[in-house]
Amino acid sequence: MRGAVGSANWSPAARVRDMGTSIFTEMTELARRTGAVNLGQGVPELDSPATLLKDVADAVLAGSNQYPPAVGCAALREAIAAHQLRRYGLDYRPAGEVLVTTGATEALAAALLALCDPGDEIIAFDPCYDAYAADARLAGARLVGVPLVLDGDGFALDADALRAAVTPRTRVLLLNSPHNPTGKVFTADELAAIAEICRERSLTVITDEVYEHLVYSDGARHLPIATLPGMRERTLIISSAGKTFNVTGWKVGWVCGPAPLVAAVNSAKQFLTYASGTPYQEALARALDSVEEWAAGLRDTLRQNRDLLSDGLTRAGLRPLRADAGYFVQADVRPWGYSDGVQFCRDLPERAGVVAIPTVAFYLDADAPAWLVRFSICKRDDSIRKAVDQLMAAR
Ligand SMILES: *Cc1c(COP(=O)(O)O)cnc(C)c1O
Repeated sequence: MRGAVGSANWSPAARVRDMGTSIFTEMTELARRTGAVNLGQGVPELDSPATLLKDVADAVLAGSNQYPPAVGCAALREAIAAHQLRRYGLDYRPAGEVLVTTGATEALAAALLALCDPGDEIIAFDPCYDAYAADARLAGARLVGVPLVLDGDGFALDADALRAAVTPRTRVLLLNSPHNPTGKVFTADELAAIAEICRERSLTVITDEVYEHLVYSDGARHLPIATLPGMRERTLIISSAGKTFNVTGWKVGWVCGPAPLVAAVNSAKQFLTYASGTPYQEALARALDSVEEWAAGLRDTLRQNRDLLSDGLTRAGLRPLRADAGYFVQADVRPWGYSDGVQFCRDLPERAGVVAIPTVAFYLDADAPAWLVRFSICKRDDSIRKAVDQLMAAR
Protein backbone atom coordinates (compact mmCIF):
# COMPACT_ATOMS: atom_id res chain seq x y z
CA MET A 1 0.00 0.00 0.00
CA ARG A 2 1.21 3.46 -0.81
CA GLY A 3 1.22 5.81 2.14
CA ALA A 4 2.32 9.32 2.96
CA VAL A 5 5.89 9.78 4.19
CA GLY A 6 6.46 13.36 5.32
CA SER A 7 4.92 15.61 2.72
CA ALA A 8 5.66 13.27 -0.18
CA ASN A 9 3.23 10.56 -1.10
CA TRP A 10 5.50 7.65 -1.78
CA SER A 11 6.55 4.17 -0.69
CA PRO A 12 9.14 1.77 -2.07
CA ALA A 13 8.20 -0.02 -5.27
CA ALA A 14 7.15 -3.64 -4.91
CA ARG A 15 10.37 -4.81 -6.56
CA VAL A 16 12.50 -3.51 -3.68
CA ARG A 17 10.02 -3.66 -0.81
CA ASP A 18 11.20 -5.87 2.07
CA MET A 19 14.68 -6.28 0.61
CA GLY A 20 15.62 -4.49 3.85
CA THR A 21 19.12 -4.58 5.28
CA SER A 22 20.87 -7.87 4.95
CA ILE A 23 22.40 -10.11 7.60
CA PHE A 24 25.76 -9.04 6.08
CA THR A 25 25.15 -5.47 7.15
CA GLU A 26 24.12 -6.60 10.63
CA MET A 27 27.17 -8.84 11.08
CA THR A 28 29.61 -6.29 9.63
CA GLU A 29 28.23 -3.73 12.06
CA LEU A 30 28.54 -6.25 14.92
CA ALA A 31 32.19 -6.86 13.99
CA ARG A 32 32.87 -3.12 13.97
CA ARG A 33 31.15 -2.57 17.31
CA THR A 34 32.75 -5.49 19.15
CA GLY A 35 36.18 -5.51 17.49
CA ALA A 36 35.68 -9.21 16.72
CA VAL A 37 37.73 -10.96 14.01
CA ASN A 38 35.52 -10.55 10.95
CA LEU A 39 35.19 -13.83 9.08
CA GLY A 40 31.77 -12.72 7.86
CA GLN A 41 31.62 -11.04 4.49
CA GLY A 42 34.07 -12.31 1.86
CA VAL A 43 36.19 -9.20 1.73
CA PRO A 44 39.77 -10.26 1.00
CA GLU A 45 42.63 -9.21 3.26
CA LEU A 46 45.01 -10.84 0.79
CA ASP A 47 47.50 -9.16 -1.55
CA SER A 48 47.02 -8.38 -5.23
CA PRO A 49 49.73 -8.66 -7.92
CA ALA A 50 52.04 -5.64 -7.46
CA THR A 51 52.39 -5.10 -11.22
CA LEU A 52 48.60 -4.99 -11.58
CA LEU A 53 48.34 -2.24 -8.95
CA LYS A 54 51.14 -0.26 -10.58
CA ASP A 55 49.60 -0.68 -14.03
CA VAL A 56 46.32 0.82 -12.77
CA ALA A 57 48.12 3.79 -11.22
CA ASP A 58 50.07 4.32 -14.44
CA ALA A 59 46.90 4.09 -16.54
CA VAL A 60 45.19 6.73 -14.37
CA LEU A 61 48.18 9.07 -14.59
CA ALA A 62 48.47 8.50 -18.33
CA GLY A 63 44.90 9.74 -18.72
CA SER A 64 42.81 6.58 -19.20
CA ASN A 65 39.97 8.12 -17.26
CA GLN A 66 37.05 8.52 -19.64
CA TYR A 67 34.31 6.14 -20.72
CA PRO A 68 35.62 2.91 -22.17
CA PRO A 69 33.74 1.42 -25.13
CA ALA A 70 30.30 0.20 -23.95
CA VAL A 71 31.30 -3.43 -24.58
CA GLY A 72 34.64 -2.95 -22.77
CA CYS A 73 38.23 -2.08 -23.74
CA ALA A 74 39.42 -4.07 -26.75
CA ALA A 75 42.58 -5.22 -24.96
CA LEU A 76 40.59 -6.74 -22.09
CA ARG A 77 38.07 -8.42 -24.40
CA GLU A 78 41.00 -9.94 -26.30
CA ALA A 79 42.63 -11.10 -23.06
CA ILE A 80 39.35 -12.66 -21.87
CA ALA A 81 38.88 -14.49 -25.18
CA ALA A 82 42.51 -15.71 -25.07
CA HIS A 83 42.01 -16.87 -21.46
CA GLN A 84 38.89 -18.91 -22.31
CA LEU A 85 40.67 -20.56 -25.24
CA ARG A 86 43.91 -21.26 -23.36
CA ARG A 87 42.31 -22.66 -20.21
CA TYR A 88 39.17 -24.36 -21.48
CA GLY A 89 39.43 -24.62 -25.27
CA LEU A 90 36.39 -22.31 -25.54
CA ASP A 91 36.55 -20.05 -28.56
CA TYR A 92 34.82 -16.65 -28.26
CA ARG A 93 35.24 -13.72 -30.62
CA PRO A 94 36.41 -10.60 -28.72
CA ALA A 95 34.02 -8.55 -30.91
CA GLY A 96 30.48 -9.67 -30.20
CA GLU A 97 30.95 -12.70 -27.95
CA VAL A 98 32.69 -10.98 -24.99
CA LEU A 99 31.17 -8.17 -22.94
CA VAL A 100 32.87 -6.39 -20.03
CA THR A 101 30.57 -5.49 -17.13
CA THR A 102 30.67 -3.66 -13.81
CA GLY A 103 31.54 -6.80 -11.86
CA ALA A 104 29.82 -10.15 -12.06
CA THR A 105 27.03 -8.44 -10.13
CA GLU A 106 26.03 -6.28 -13.08
CA ALA A 107 26.50 -9.17 -15.48
CA LEU A 108 24.05 -11.30 -13.47
CA ALA A 109 21.47 -8.53 -13.21
CA ALA A 110 21.74 -7.60 -16.89
CA ALA A 111 21.59 -11.25 -18.01
CA LEU A 112 18.42 -11.97 -16.03
CA LEU A 113 16.80 -8.70 -17.13
CA ALA A 114 17.71 -9.58 -20.72
CA LEU A 115 16.48 -13.18 -20.71
CA CYS A 116 13.44 -13.26 -18.42
CA ASP A 117 9.97 -11.82 -18.76
CA PRO A 118 7.68 -11.31 -15.78
CA GLY A 119 6.31 -14.68 -14.66
CA ASP A 120 9.25 -16.67 -16.00
CA GLU A 121 11.09 -19.08 -13.76
CA ILE A 122 14.81 -19.28 -13.07
CA ILE A 123 16.30 -22.35 -11.42
CA ALA A 124 19.27 -22.12 -9.07
CA PHE A 125 20.80 -24.66 -6.72
CA ASP A 126 19.98 -23.95 -3.10
CA PRO A 127 21.78 -22.48 -1.15
CA CYS A 128 22.84 -19.74 -3.56
CA TYR A 129 24.49 -16.35 -3.77
CA ASP A 130 22.09 -13.74 -2.39
CA ALA A 131 22.01 -11.55 -5.51
CA TYR A 132 20.21 -14.25 -7.52
CA ALA A 133 16.86 -13.88 -5.76
CA ALA A 134 17.09 -10.09 -5.86
CA ASP A 135 17.94 -10.06 -9.58
CA ALA A 136 15.12 -12.48 -10.38
CA ARG A 137 12.77 -10.18 -8.54
CA LEU A 138 13.99 -7.10 -10.40
CA ALA A 139 13.23 -9.00 -13.61
CA GLY A 140 9.77 -9.95 -12.31
CA ALA A 141 10.77 -13.60 -12.52
CA ARG A 142 10.60 -16.30 -9.88
CA LEU A 143 13.74 -17.98 -8.55
CA VAL A 144 13.11 -21.68 -7.95
CA GLY A 145 15.61 -23.45 -5.69
CA VAL A 146 16.73 -27.03 -6.22
CA PRO A 147 18.37 -28.21 -3.00
CA LEU A 148 21.97 -29.35 -3.03
CA VAL A 149 21.87 -32.49 -0.93
CA LEU A 150 24.09 -32.90 2.11
CA ASP A 151 26.22 -35.92 1.36
CA GLY A 152 28.75 -36.88 4.03
CA ASP A 153 30.76 -33.71 4.69
CA GLY A 154 29.85 -32.12 1.34
CA PHE A 155 27.02 -31.35 -1.05
CA ALA A 156 25.78 -33.27 -4.09
CA LEU A 157 23.49 -32.73 -7.08
CA ASP A 158 20.04 -34.33 -7.04
CA ALA A 159 19.46 -34.65 -10.80
CA ASP A 160 15.91 -35.96 -10.34
CA ALA A 161 15.00 -32.92 -8.25
CA LEU A 162 16.43 -30.68 -10.98
CA ARG A 163 14.46 -32.47 -13.68
CA ALA A 164 11.27 -32.21 -11.59
CA ALA A 165 11.77 -28.46 -11.05
CA VAL A 166 11.74 -27.62 -14.76
CA THR A 167 8.36 -26.34 -15.95
CA PRO A 168 7.19 -24.81 -19.24
CA ARG A 169 7.92 -21.41 -17.64
CA THR A 170 11.56 -22.21 -16.86
CA ARG A 171 13.78 -20.00 -18.97
CA VAL A 172 17.15 -20.11 -17.28
CA LEU A 173 19.29 -22.37 -15.14
CA LEU A 174 21.69 -20.34 -13.03
CA LEU A 175 24.71 -22.48 -12.18
CA ASN A 176 27.41 -21.34 -9.76
CA SER A 177 30.51 -23.52 -9.75
CA PRO A 178 32.81 -23.31 -7.83
CA HIS A 179 29.96 -22.60 -5.46
CA ASN A 180 29.39 -19.93 -2.82
CA PRO A 181 28.65 -20.56 0.08
CA THR A 182 29.49 -24.30 0.05
CA GLY A 183 32.92 -24.38 -1.64
CA LYS A 184 31.57 -27.19 -3.82
CA VAL A 185 33.01 -27.77 -7.29
CA PHE A 186 30.48 -29.58 -9.48
CA THR A 187 31.98 -32.84 -10.80
CA ALA A 188 32.20 -33.80 -14.47
CA ASP A 189 29.41 -36.36 -13.93
CA GLU A 190 27.15 -33.81 -12.25
CA LEU A 191 27.75 -31.31 -15.04
CA ALA A 192 26.97 -33.97 -17.65
CA ALA A 193 23.65 -34.73 -15.90
CA ILE A 194 22.78 -31.01 -15.71
CA ALA A 195 23.72 -30.49 -19.37
CA GLU A 196 21.51 -33.37 -20.45
CA ILE A 197 18.49 -31.79 -18.74
CA CYS A 198 19.28 -28.37 -20.22
CA ARG A 199 19.50 -29.80 -23.74
CA GLU A 200 16.34 -31.87 -23.29
CA ARG A 201 14.32 -28.94 -21.96
CA SER A 202 15.98 -26.22 -24.10
CA LEU A 203 17.14 -24.20 -21.11
CA THR A 204 19.52 -21.30 -21.36
CA VAL A 205 22.31 -21.57 -18.80
CA ILE A 206 23.92 -18.66 -17.01
CA THR A 207 27.04 -19.70 -15.15
CA ASP A 208 28.67 -17.81 -12.32
CA GLU A 209 32.33 -18.81 -12.45
CA VAL A 210 33.87 -16.04 -10.33
CA TYR A 211 35.84 -18.64 -8.33
CA GLU A 212 37.16 -20.40 -11.45
CA HIS A 213 40.80 -19.94 -10.41
CA LEU A 214 40.36 -20.75 -6.74
CA VAL A 215 39.97 -24.54 -6.74
CA TYR A 216 42.55 -25.61 -4.15
CA SER A 217 41.70 -29.25 -3.36
CA ASP A 218 43.56 -32.01 -5.18
CA GLY A 219 41.13 -33.98 -7.27
CA ALA A 220 38.65 -31.13 -7.78
CA ARG A 221 38.76 -29.34 -11.14
CA HIS A 222 36.72 -26.49 -12.57
CA LEU A 223 35.05 -27.39 -15.84
CA PRO A 224 32.82 -24.79 -17.52
CA ILE A 225 29.55 -26.48 -18.51
CA ALA A 226 29.87 -24.64 -21.85
CA THR A 227 32.60 -27.15 -22.80
CA LEU A 228 30.08 -30.02 -22.83
CA PRO A 229 28.39 -31.12 -26.09
CA GLY A 230 25.56 -28.83 -27.20
CA MET A 231 26.14 -26.40 -24.34
CA ARG A 232 28.25 -23.55 -25.73
CA GLU A 233 25.34 -22.38 -27.88
CA ARG A 234 23.00 -22.07 -24.87
CA THR A 235 25.39 -20.82 -22.19
CA LEU A 236 26.43 -17.40 -20.95
CA ILE A 237 29.58 -17.57 -18.83
CA ILE A 238 30.00 -14.87 -16.19
CA SER A 239 33.26 -14.26 -14.37
CA SER A 240 35.10 -11.42 -12.72
CA ALA A 241 38.50 -10.11 -11.66
CA GLY A 242 37.44 -9.38 -8.07
CA LYS A 243 38.02 -12.78 -6.50
CA THR A 244 40.87 -13.87 -8.78
CA PHE A 245 43.10 -10.87 -8.03
CA ASN A 246 41.71 -9.81 -4.62
CA VAL A 247 40.40 -6.55 -6.07
CA THR A 248 36.73 -6.76 -5.12
CA GLY A 249 36.40 -2.96 -5.08
CA TRP A 250 37.23 -2.60 -8.76
CA LYS A 251 34.12 -4.30 -10.08
CA VAL A 252 35.35 -5.54 -13.42
CA GLY A 253 33.45 -8.59 -14.66
CA TRP A 254 32.60 -10.12 -18.00
CA VAL A 255 30.22 -12.26 -19.99
CA CYS A 256 31.12 -14.72 -22.75
CA GLY A 257 28.59 -16.46 -24.96
CA PRO A 258 26.99 -16.68 -28.38
CA ALA A 259 26.64 -13.25 -30.02
CA PRO A 260 22.80 -12.99 -29.88
CA LEU A 261 22.75 -13.79 -26.15
CA VAL A 262 25.61 -11.38 -25.41
CA ALA A 263 23.88 -8.66 -27.45
CA ALA A 264 20.72 -9.12 -25.36
CA VAL A 265 22.74 -8.76 -22.15
CA ASN A 266 24.37 -5.63 -23.55
CA SER A 267 20.93 -4.15 -24.27
CA ALA A 268 20.20 -4.17 -20.52
CA LYS A 269 23.76 -3.42 -19.41
CA GLN A 270 24.13 -0.25 -21.48
CA PHE A 271 21.35 1.41 -19.47
CA LEU A 272 22.50 0.15 -16.08
CA THR A 273 26.04 1.53 -16.11
CA TYR A 274 26.83 1.94 -19.81
CA ALA A 275 30.50 1.23 -19.01
CA SER A 276 32.99 1.65 -16.17
CA GLY A 277 36.55 1.24 -14.91
CA THR A 278 38.76 2.21 -17.88
CA PRO A 279 42.14 2.10 -16.05
CA TYR A 280 41.22 -1.15 -14.29
CA GLN A 281 40.19 -2.75 -17.56
CA GLU A 282 43.46 -1.78 -19.24
CA ALA A 283 45.60 -3.11 -16.39
CA LEU A 284 43.57 -6.32 -16.03
CA ALA A 285 44.09 -7.12 -19.71
CA ARG A 286 47.77 -7.61 -18.95
CA ALA A 287 47.19 -9.39 -15.64
CA LEU A 288 44.83 -11.92 -17.19
CA ASP A 289 47.53 -13.01 -19.64
CA SER A 290 49.58 -14.38 -16.74
CA VAL A 291 46.78 -15.24 -14.31
CA GLU A 292 47.87 -18.88 -13.97
CA GLU A 293 51.14 -17.98 -12.21
CA TRP A 294 49.35 -15.62 -9.86
CA ALA A 295 46.47 -17.95 -9.07
CA ALA A 296 48.74 -20.86 -8.12
CA GLY A 297 50.03 -18.83 -5.16
CA LEU A 298 46.58 -17.65 -4.17
CA ARG A 299 45.29 -21.22 -4.18
CA ASP A 300 48.15 -22.27 -1.86
CA THR A 301 47.20 -19.48 0.54
CA LEU A 302 43.51 -20.39 0.50
CA ARG A 303 44.28 -24.10 0.97
CA GLN A 304 46.44 -23.29 4.00
CA ASN A 305 43.70 -21.06 5.41
CA ARG A 306 41.07 -23.72 4.78
CA ASP A 307 43.19 -26.29 6.62
CA LEU A 308 43.99 -23.91 9.47
CA LEU A 309 40.36 -22.94 9.99
CA SER A 310 38.85 -26.41 9.46
CA ASP A 311 41.34 -27.85 11.91
CA GLY A 312 40.63 -25.07 14.41
CA LEU A 313 36.86 -25.50 14.09
CA THR A 314 37.26 -29.22 14.74
CA ARG A 315 39.43 -28.58 17.78
CA ALA A 316 36.88 -26.02 18.99
CA GLY A 317 34.30 -28.81 18.91
CA LEU A 318 32.42 -27.67 15.80
CA ARG A 319 32.04 -29.72 12.63
CA PRO A 320 33.51 -28.13 9.47
CA LEU A 321 32.22 -29.29 6.10
CA ARG A 322 34.43 -29.96 3.10
CA ALA A 323 35.37 -26.95 0.98
CA ASP A 324 37.28 -27.47 -2.27
CA ALA A 325 37.29 -23.94 -3.66
CA GLY A 326 36.58 -20.30 -3.09
CA TYR A 327 36.52 -18.03 -0.10
CA PHE A 328 34.49 -19.94 2.51
CA VAL A 329 34.30 -22.86 4.93
CA GLN A 330 31.02 -23.87 6.53
CA ALA A 331 30.51 -25.53 9.88
CA ASP A 332 27.75 -27.40 11.65
CA VAL A 333 27.26 -25.56 14.95
CA ARG A 334 24.99 -28.13 16.64
CA PRO A 335 27.87 -29.57 18.71
CA TRP A 336 27.85 -26.26 20.63
CA GLY A 337 24.17 -26.77 21.38
CA TYR A 338 22.82 -24.42 18.69
CA SER A 339 20.12 -25.49 16.25
CA ASP A 340 19.93 -21.93 14.88
CA GLY A 341 22.93 -20.49 13.04
CA VAL A 342 21.51 -16.95 13.28
CA GLN A 343 21.55 -17.12 17.08
CA PHE A 344 25.02 -18.68 17.00
CA CYS A 345 26.29 -15.79 14.84
CA ARG A 346 24.65 -13.18 17.08
CA ASP A 347 26.30 -14.75 20.16
CA LEU A 348 29.69 -15.50 18.62
CA PRO A 349 31.31 -12.03 18.86
CA GLU A 350 30.62 -11.93 22.59
CA ARG A 351 31.47 -15.56 23.19
CA ALA A 352 34.56 -15.95 20.97
CA GLY A 353 35.34 -12.56 19.39
CA VAL A 354 34.58 -13.89 15.90
CA VAL A 355 31.99 -12.89 13.31
CA ALA A 356 30.52 -15.39 10.83
CA ILE A 357 27.43 -15.48 8.60
CA PRO A 358 24.53 -17.90 9.09
CA THR A 359 24.11 -19.99 5.94
CA VAL A 360 20.32 -19.59 6.05
CA ALA A 361 21.00 -16.15 4.55
CA PHE A 362 21.82 -18.04 1.32
CA TYR A 363 18.88 -20.44 1.35
CA LEU A 364 15.65 -19.96 -0.58
CA ASP A 365 14.11 -22.98 1.15
CA ALA A 366 12.48 -22.27 4.51
CA ASP A 367 13.41 -25.82 5.63
CA ALA A 368 17.11 -25.17 5.10
CA PRO A 369 19.63 -26.64 7.54
CA ALA A 370 19.49 -23.77 10.03
CA TRP A 371 22.58 -25.00 11.88
CA LEU A 372 25.08 -24.16 9.15
CA VAL A 373 27.38 -21.15 9.48
CA ARG A 374 29.81 -19.72 6.92
CA PHE A 375 33.32 -18.47 7.74
CA SER A 376 35.53 -16.53 5.27
CA ILE A 377 39.06 -17.76 4.64
CA CYS A 378 40.18 -14.95 2.28
CA LYS A 379 41.89 -13.39 5.28
CA ARG A 380 45.41 -12.87 6.55
CA ASP A 381 46.96 -15.87 8.22
CA ASP A 382 47.11 -14.03 11.58
CA SER A 383 43.38 -13.21 11.42
CA ILE A 384 42.56 -16.90 10.94
CA ARG A 385 44.97 -17.93 13.72
CA LYS A 386 43.46 -15.41 16.11
CA ALA A 387 39.93 -16.58 15.28
CA VAL A 388 40.96 -20.21 15.80
CA ASP A 389 42.61 -19.48 19.16
CA GLN A 390 39.54 -17.61 20.36
CA LEU A 391 37.11 -20.29 19.13
CA MET A 392 39.13 -22.96 20.94
CA ALA A 393 39.17 -20.89 24.12
CA ALA A 394 35.38 -20.42 23.88
CA ARG A 395 34.65 -24.07 23.35
C1 LIG B 1 31.50 -12.15 -5.14
C2 LIG B 1 30.53 -12.89 -6.00
C3 LIG B 1 29.92 -12.26 -7.09
C4 LIG B 1 30.09 -10.78 -7.37
O1 LIG B 1 31.20 -10.53 -8.15
P1 LIG B 1 31.65 -8.99 -8.43
O2 LIG B 1 32.57 -9.13 -9.57
O3 LIG B 1 32.29 -8.49 -7.19
O4 LIG B 1 30.43 -8.21 -8.77
C5 LIG B 1 29.08 -13.01 -7.88
N1 LIG B 1 28.84 -14.30 -7.62
C6 LIG B 1 29.39 -14.94 -6.57
C7 LIG B 1 29.08 -16.38 -6.34
C8 LIG B 1 30.25 -14.25 -5.72
O5 LIG B 1 30.76 -14.87 -4.65
